[in-house]
Amino acid sequence: MATWENLSENQRAAVAHTDGPCAVYAGPGSGKTRVVTLRAARLAATGKRLLVTTFTADATEEMRSRLTGILDKVQAKNVTVSTMHSLCLQTLKAHGKPFHLLTDPHLQRNLAESAKAAEIEGGVKAFLTQVSYQKNLGINHKTYKVENSQEDRDFLRCWKDYEKIKVEKNYREFDDLILDVSILLDKDEEVRLAVAGRFSHIIVDECQDMNFPQYSVAFALGRDHKNVMLVGDLDQSLYAFRGADTRTFQLFSQNNQTRVYELRENYRSTRSILQFADSLIRQDEERRPIEFVPTRDEGDPVSWNRFPDPDIEALAVGEEILHLVKRGAKFREIAVLYRTNAQSEAFERNFAALEIPYTMRDDGDFYARKEVQGILSYLNFFARVEGKSAEAALTDPEAFPDEWLLALLNVPSRKLSRVVGAQLRHTAEFRLKRIWEILPLFAADDLKTHRALRAMREELSTIGGRVAQLEHAGEAIRHIRAATNFDHWLKTDEGDERDNDRLQNIQRMQAAAAHYPTIKGYLAAVQKVRDEAARRKSERAKRRREADEVMLSTGHSAKGLEWRYVFAVGWSEEILPHRRAISEPNGISEERRIAYVIATRARDALHISTLDTWNDAGVAPSRFIAGLNLIASPSRISEAIEDETRIESEKPEITLGGLFMEV
Ligand code: ATP
Ligand code: MG
Repeated sequence: MATWENLSENQRAAVAHTDGPCAVYAGPGSGKTRVVTLRAARLAATGKRLLVTTFTADATEEMRSRLTGILDKVQAKNVTVSTMHSLCLQTLKAHGKPFHLLTDPHLQRNLAESAKAAEIEGGVKAFLTQVSYQKNLGINHKTYKVENSQEDRDFLRCWKDYEKIKVEKNYREFDDLILDVSILLDKDEEVRLAVAGRFSHIIVDECQDMNFPQYSVAFALGRDHKNVMLVGDLDQSLYAFRGADTRTFQLFSQNNQTRVYELRENYRSTRSILQFADSLIRQDEERRPIEFVPTRDEGDPVSWNRFPDPDIEALAVGEEILHLVKRGAKFREIAVLYRTNAQSEAFERNFAALEIPYTMRDDGDFYARKEVQGILSYLNFFARVEGKSAEAALTDPEAFPDEWLLALLNVPSRKLSRVVGAQLRHTAEFRLKRIWEILPLFAADDLKTHRALRAMREELSTIGGRVAQLEHAGEAIRHIRAATNFDHWLKTDEGDERDNDRLQNIQRMQAAAAHYPTIKGYLAAVQKVRDEAARRKSERAKRRREADEVMLSTGHSAKGLEWRYVFAVGWSEEILPHRRAISEPNGISEERRIAYVIATRARDALHISTLDTWNDAGVAPSRFIAGLNLIASPSRISEAIEDETRIESEKPEITLGGLFMEV
C-alpha cells in the first residue's frame, strides 16, 4: 500500500500542497498517479471535498479502489472520482432537460443521412468525424466559422440540420456532453455554483489529453477557490486527433501563480528500458526534454525480434509467455501491447491454441457488434406494430420508423447502396410518407435495385405478419433469421473470420429475448443494459485485477498502467507508425508518443517485435527503432516454426529473432 514514508522529496511536497493552483509535470513512471492518490487521500481525510478526474473508466476504478484502501468509509465519501464524460453526463441529467444518449453508431449514421450528409464531400463518415473533431475543439454548429468555400458551407448546413434532427428526437451524443456542460456552466451561474459548490479541490490526472471544453469545465468548477491541480506528461499525449489541447496545460504551468512540481525519479522501469524509451522520445526534436533519474538496476536489455508474419509473432510471444510462467511469472504480470485493434486477432487465436488465458481491454459491448446491431434494427423497426393489425399499423405515423428501415437496408447485404437509402428518404419526404409506405412504388422487374427492394419488402411483410402474434421476443428473432436468411449471410459475409462467434452471438441473443413477452420489453431491457455499460466496464476492470490473465491491449488503452513484462508487437512501418499517420502533419510525432507510452508500461522487461508482412504485403521495420542499435539475436523459437521459416527466409537469425527463448 502506498504510504507517505517512501516518497521522494518532490513527491512529498506535491502531496502536501493544500491550496491554490499547482501542476505536476513529469515523465512516465515517476509516481504522478501515486501523488494524485495520496494527495486526494490526505485532503479527504481532513474533510475537503474533492473531484478527481481520470481519463478512462478503468483508471477511475483503479483510483477508487486505491482510495478505499487508504480511507475509511466516511472519508471516502469526500472524494468523487470520475471521468469528465460521466461527470458531465450526471450534470446534464441533474440540471438539464431529459435526453437519450446517442450511443448507437447505426442510428447516428442514419441521423446524419437524414441531414443529407451522404451528399457532401467525404460522405457520412467524414461528416461525423469532422463534427466530432469540432466539438472536441469546443466549437458547435452555432460558433463554427465557415470558410469561404462551397464545401464548407455545405458542411455547416448539414451540421445544422443534423443538430436540429437530434433536438427533435431528443438525442445527445457523447461529444455533446462536455461541450454542453461547458456552455451551461458559462451561461447559468446558478447551475455553476451548484455543481462547483460540491468540491473544494479539483485534481486532473492525465491532463495532457484533455481538450479545450474539458479544461473549460474544470476551470469553471475551480474558479472560486482556484484549488486546481493538473497532472500530466506532454510526451504521453495521444489524442491530438481528438482535439487534445496541450497548450492549456503549458500555459497553466507557466502561470506565476501556479506551483509546479517536477518529479524526476523513475520508479517503474529498469535502467535499460528507460534508456531505450529516452532515446526513442528524443528523436522528437521539438519537445521539451525531461531528464529521467532511474532508481532501478540495469535489468535485462530490451530485446528485438523480427517475424515473417503476425501468426508467427503471436506464437513466438505465446511461447515466451509460457516460458516466463514456468519460471514463476504470473500471466497477469504480462501484457501484449499493439497499435491497432486488428492486431489482437492473431494473439487471440494463437493464445487460445496455446491455452494462455488472456483478457482484452477493448472487449467491446455485445450490443455494439455488427450482427447484433442488425437484429436490433429489425426489432426496433417492428417494436411499434407488434400485436397490431396491418391496417392499424399502416395508419399509425409512429409505426415502421424510417431510421430503422434504413438501418436494416443492408442487413443481410442486399447490395442496396447508401445512395438508394438517400433516394428512398427523398422520395418519402417529398410525398410526406414513411419509406415503408412508398416501397411498393419500386416495382420495375428489370431493375436490380427494385427487385432487391421488393424482396426486402416481402421479407419485412412476412416478419411483420408473424410479429403480430408472438409468444415472446425470442420468436421475433427466429422469424427475422428465417425470413432474411440471416444465418447464411453471417456465414458468407466477407472480411470476417469469426463467423461462428457471430452466429453464437445471435443464438445467445435469441435465447435471451425469449425471456421477454414483447419486443418492446426486450428492447427496453437492452437499453438498460447499454445505459449501464459504463458501470459494467468498471466492474470488469475490478475482476480483471483479480484474474490471472495476460492483457491484450492497444497502447491508447494501456495509458497509466504497468506490467512486469511487456511485449510491444508489430513495430513495423504502416502499423506503428500507422499507415494513415505517415502522411499527416504531426502524425509521426504522435505515433512516436504512442510507441513511447507502450515502451514505458514495462517494469522489468520489454520485448519489441517487428513484422515483415502485414495483410500479406511486405513492411519495413518501424522507423522508430531504426537508429536505436537494437540487436536481434539468433533464434530458437520452436523447432517446427524455425524449420518452416528457414526455408523461406534468407536471414533466419534475424527473421526469427530468438531473444524469446532460452538457449
Ligand atoms: P504514468 O505517466 O505512466 O501514468 P505515473 O507517473 O503516474 O506514470 P505511477 O503509476 O504513479 O507513475 O507510479 C509508477 C510506479 O512507481 C508505481 O508502481 C508506483 O507504485 C511506483 N512508485 C511511485 N513513487 C514511488 C516511490 N516514491 N517509491 C517507490 N515506488 C514508487
Ligand atoms: Mg499515471
